[in-house]
Amino acid sequence: MKFIVDAMLGRLAKWLRLLGYDTIYNKMLNDDELINIAKNENRILLTRDEFLFKKAIKSNVSAKLISSTDFMIALKELNLPLDESIIGSRCTICNAILVEEKTNIWKCPNCGKLYWQGKHWKDINRRIKLLKGDNNVNS
Ligand SMILES: [Zn+2]
Repeated sequence: MKFIVDAMLGRLAKWLRLLGYDTIYNKMLNDDELINIAKNENRILLTRDEFLFKKAIKSNVSAKLISSTDFMIALKELNLPLDESIIGSRCTICNAILVEEKTNIWKCPNCGKLYWQGKHWKDINRRIKLLKGDNNVNS
């Protein structure tokens, strides 16, 4: 599953990348460009803009209208399969796949940002657990 996200959904885009999903987010893209990229690269377009959503559907692009301004609610609504093996594998800034630099330190080969499981991971893991909660109620 690959995504392209409109300019209003920056936080959601960051989280999709964090969860390992290939996600294009570029504020400079206009509606037609978003639709074209979604179509050419077989991406699901996520938008808060009802007009853009309808336009995408008319162009035979998979699209989802995001109603909530809360990215956690939006993520839950998407009901994505969460794959442990890809969580944290992608740069949240630029979408590139991270490479291990040293033990437990990952580097983005594109923008150079370093990642490690510091304090902020507590919050990330808590949110991932919350997301999982609704996905597998029985486990
Ligand atoms: Zn990067």
